[in-house]
Amino acid sequence: MSEAPSETRSAIMRAVKSRDTKPEMTVRSLAHRLGFRFRLHRRSLPGCPDLVFVARRKAIFVNGCFWHGHDCKRGARMPKANAPYWRAKIAANQSRDARVRAELAAAGWESLTVWECETRDAEALRARLVAFLAETSSALALRRRPSSFETAPSDPPQDEGRQTGNKPSS
Ligand SMILES: [Zn+2]
Repeated sequence: MSEAPSETRSAIMRAVKSRDTKPEMTVRSLAHRLGFRFRLHRRSLPGCPDLVFVARRKAIFVNGCFWHGHDCKRGARMPKANAPYWRAKIAANQSRDARVRAELAAAGWESLTVWECETRDAEALRARLVAFLAETSSALALRRRPSSFETAPSDPPQDEGRQTGNKPSS
């Protein structure tokens, strides 16, 4: 069993739950400067997304590379002590992230993950935000008209071969 020392662990819990982190503030101020209106930390949505663009039905998560297991230098850095503990923690975060994205998609929300390391390149970040947010047609179309799988008729009933009058008598 590997346990993080309790002091370290509470620092972790704070880090995992932290809001208003620097990367998040970077994304927020950029989205704001680009003229998009959004709300913060909507608890009513799966995963409580960091930025929520209600009218566009889009949500942005700003993820720390280490905590969410990004495939980058910082995400790959693993403390030598208690490595299994960290790995389990990060794996749990990753599976929760995947579940949250699926739940949002099922509810008709598009989501974007912005990684901490991506917030350092302002130009690239700007391009990503614009590409994600400016494009509204598909989301609006989806909202107006249910997607095909929702309208598809259910499978024809199987011919089970009626078994009336075929009850075993005892
Ligand atoms: Zn990263």
